[in-house]
Amino acid sequence: MNRRSQPNWSRRDLLSGAAFTLIPPAAPSQAPWWRRTLRWGQTNISEEDPLHYDIDWWRAHWRRTRVQGVIVNAGGIVAYYPSRHPLHYRARFLGERDLYGELTRAAHRDGLAVLARMDSNRASEEFYRAHPDWFAHDAEGRPYRAGEHYIACIDGPYYEEYLPAILREIIAWEKPEGFTDNSWSGLERDQICYCRSSRERFRRETGEDLPRRKDWDDPVWRAWFDWSMKRRLEIWDLNNRTTRQAGGPDCLWVGMLSGDLIGQGRRLRDVKAILERSEIILLDDQGRNDATGFQRNAELGKRLHGLAGWDKLMPESMATYQRAPTFRKASAAAAEARQWMYAGFAGGIQPWWHHVGAWQPDRRQFETAVPVFEWHAANEAWLVGRRPVASVGVVFSDRNTDYYGRDEAEERVARPYYGIIQALVRARIPYLPVHADHIDRDGRDLAALVLPNLAAMTVGQIEAVERYVARGGGLLATGETSLYNEWGEPRPDFGLARLLGVRFTGRRHGSLGEAESWTGSDHTYLRLHPETAGTVYGPRRAGPAPQKPRHSVLAGFEATDVIAFGGLLVEVEPAARSVVPLTFIPHFPAYPPEFSWMRTPHTTIPALVLQEESRVAYLAADVDRRFARDNLPDHGDLLANLIRWVARDRLPVEVRGPGLLDCHLYRQGDRLILHLVNLTSPGAWRAPAHEIVPVGPLEVRFRLPGGVAGVRARLLVSQSAVAVRREGEWAVASVPSVDGHEVLVLE
Ligand SMILES: [Zn+2]
Repeated sequence: MNRRSQPNWSRRDLLSGAAFTLIPPAAPSQAPWWRRTLRWGQTNISEEDPLHYDIDWWRAHWRRTRVQGVIVNAGGIVAYYPSRHPLHYRARFLGERDLYGELTRAAHRDGLAVLARMDSNRASEEFYRAHPDWFAHDAEGRPYRAGEHYIACIDGPYYEEYLPAILREIIAWEKPEGFTDNSWSGLERDQICYCRSSRERFRRETGEDLPRRKDWDDPVWRAWFDWSMKRRLEIWDLNNRTTRQAGGPDCLWVGMLSGDLIGQGRRLRDVKAILERSEIILLDDQGRNDATGFQRNAELGKRLHGLAGWDKLMPESMATYQRAPTFRKASAAAAEARQWMYAGFAGGIQPWWHHVGAWQPDRRQFETAVPVFEWHAANEAWLVGRRPVASVGVVFSDRNTDYYGRDEAEERVARPYYGIIQALVRARIPYLPVHADHIDRDGRDLAALVLPNLAAMTVGQIEAVERYVARGGGLLATGETSLYNEWGEPRPDFGLARLLGVRFTGRRHGSLGEAESWTGSDHTYLRLHPETAGTVYGPRRAGPAPQKPRHSVLAGFEATDVIAFGGLLVEVEPAARSVVPLTFIPHFPAYPPEFSWMRTPHTTIPALVLQEESRVAYLAADVDRRFARDNLPDHGDLLANLIRWVARDRLPVEVRGPGLLDCHLYRQGDRLILHLVNLTSPGAWRAPAHEIVPVGPLEVRFRLPGGVAGVRARLLVSQSAVAVRREGEWAVASVPSVDGHEVLVLE
C-alpha cells in the first residue's frame, strides 16, 4: 500500500554529473493502516447517489490519484446499507442497495484502507418522536434542532447504547479499517442541555444543578464547561472501545477535528487531550479564508503535530468544490485548491481530496488533485518521518483562548497570535507553535519565545517562561501577557513583571475595537526614539539633534519618528536600566484636516520596553493584533525586528530574493528539507487564487547543524539538482524559480 518511489532524475542531471541518489528512509512495511496511509480520497455520498454511483470510474480515479485510503459514508444521520435498526434513516434512494458494502469491498480489493463515515449528531423527526428523551433540550424543554433534524444528547442512551450498536452493525456488515465523524461532539458551548440524562449526570459528578446560563465568572458554569469537555473525551474513548472490541485492536474510531485556533473550545473539544490519545488525526479544514491565507494550513499542521507528535499522520480534507462561498457542485479554482494542499505539506499534513456527490456536472474538479497527488506519491519519503527545525517558538494555550478570550477570542487571542505568525511568514523566519504547557519540552532548542497576548497563564506556565529565560532564551511578550490567571481573572500586576522589567499602572489607552480614525478615538501613534526628523529629507523645524544612534529594533525606520498605531496599550512603569525605544502618542482628530495636529506629541508612556542583558522585550502596544487587522507593513517590520533581536539573530535559514514566501524547515536524518510555498500572487489578491505567478531566483542560506554535510541539494518539484557553496557555517544554494511551491533537500 505504501509503495516508495524514487523521483525521476532527468537525463540532463546525469550528463552534468549533478545527479545524486536521495535514499529515502525505509517506510515501515508492516505498520498498521494509520501509520502508512498517506493519501486519502472522499466522495461524500449524497442521497441520490445509490441510483447511479459509477464504482468502476471511481476505482480508476483512486488509482490515478494514488490514494491509499478512502472515506465511505456508512451510517448515523443517513444509512447507506440496509441497517436492521428501524429508526436508522436510510438514504432516500437506497432501496435495498448496499452502497457502503459495495464500495468498501471494492476499495479492499484495490488494497485501500476504508474509514466508515458517520454523522452522530443528528437524527430524523421520526426518531425524535420515538425517543424524545434521547435528544438535547433547552431550559424551557424545547428540543435543540439543526434544520429539520434533532440533535441527540451525548449524555443519554443515543450515544451510550444506540450509536455503539450501529458501530457494531457496520463492522459486522463489512469491516472498515476504522471510523471517522466530523459531527460527533453534540451541542456547542453556548447551548446547555437540560434533558434528564444531562441533569442527573451533572449532579452525580459535580454535586450541582446545571447552570441556568453561560457566565464565565460563575463557578458552576465553569464546572459545567470543564465537565462538558471531559464528557466528550469519554465519548471519544467509548467509541474507540466499541470499535476495537468489535473490529480488533486496529479498528480505530478517529472522529474529526478542525485546525481552527479558537473554534474547538467553542465546540467543547479538548484538542490537546484528543490529539494525545488519537493514533491518526483527521482534519476537517478544507481551505483558507482571506484573513489568514494559505499559510494558515502550514501553521495548523505544525501546531497540531506539536501536540499529537510528529510520528502521527494528519490527513486533511481538502475541498475540490468552491468552498467559500460554498457551491458544492462548482469546481474550486484549481490554483486555490492546490495552493492549500502545498501549504499543508509544508506543515506535515497529508492530502485528502473531497467531492460532495458521486456525480458531478462540473468535471473540472476531477483534475484538481491529480498532479498534486502524483507529486506527493513520488516524493512521499521526504514528507514524513521528519522533525521541524526552527529557532522561534510562538506560544498558545487553550486556557488562554477559552478563559481570557471568552466570547471575544477572535480579537483577544487569534488576532495577536496570527499577527505574530504573519510577521514571521513575511520575514521568512521558520517558527514552531508551542503549547504553554510544553515550554520546558519544546523550548530547549529555541533561541526565542513569543507570547502574543498570552494573558491567562498558570503559575506553572509563568515559572516555565522564567526557567526558559534563565537558561538564556530570548523573549517577546505583548499586550496583556500574564496579566490574568488561568480563570481569566485579572492579576494586580503581570505574573512576568520581574522578567519583563515592568510594573502595571492599572491604566490602559486606546481600545480593542476597529480603528475609527475619522470619528473615533483610535487615531493614535507610536513615537520612535531618539528622533531623527531634523537629519533626513523634509522641511526643517527647531528641535534638538539626536544624541545617540537608535536601537537595532528600529532598523529600517530611519526616515520617520512615528508609526501608526490605533490599538490598545497597557500602561507600565519600566524598571531602571530598561530601554524604551517607543512611546505612545494619544489620540488627536483625523478630521477635519484643519484640526488634525498632535495635541500631545510627546508622552513618557512606554510602548516598548527592552531588557538588553536578557534579550527580553515587552511590547505594551498590541502591534501584533493590529498587524493581523490592518496589515500595515510597519507593524510587520517592527515585529520581525523584535523577534530577530530577542533570538539574537540565530535563524536556521535565510531566503533572499523578492516575493512573499512561507518557509518551513525540517530535519530528516542527515538532511535538511526546506518547503517554500509561494504566497506572492495570492497575497496580492483575495480568495480564491486565480493564477500563481512564479517567483525567483532565490538565494537560500542554511546554517548547517551538526550531522548535515551540506554539499549537495535537490529540488523535488522542478526535479533538478542545484549547486551548493559554503560560506563559513552556511551552505548556500540558488533556487531558479518557485511556482506553487518548491521543496529543497540538502544533504
Ligand atoms: Zn442532555
